[in-house]
Amino acid sequence: MTLTDLTEWIKCDSCSAQALYLTKGTSGDLYFCGHHRNKYSKTLDSWAFEIVELDRKEEIPLIEKEEING
Ligand SMILES: [Zn+2]
Repeated sequence: MTLTDLTEWIKCDSCSAQALYLTKGTSGDLYFCGHHRNKYSKTLDSWAFEIVELDRKEEIPLIEKEEING
C-alpha cells in the first residue's frame, strides 16, 4: 500500500459514490463514502482497527494530515 493510492478516486464499496474513508479491518480493507461510514459506524468501530480519511479528488492532497510517529 502506498500513499499514492489514497489520492486516487476510489468508489465506495456499498454504493457508487466516492469513497472518503478507508477502513482497515482484520479481514481486509473496505472503502466507504461519508454516508456509509456513518451508517456502518458502530460496526466499523468494532471491526476496523484503523480508519483513514481519504482526500477528495477536488481538493489538494494535504500531506500534513499524515502523522509520522517514529
Ligand atoms: Zn456509499
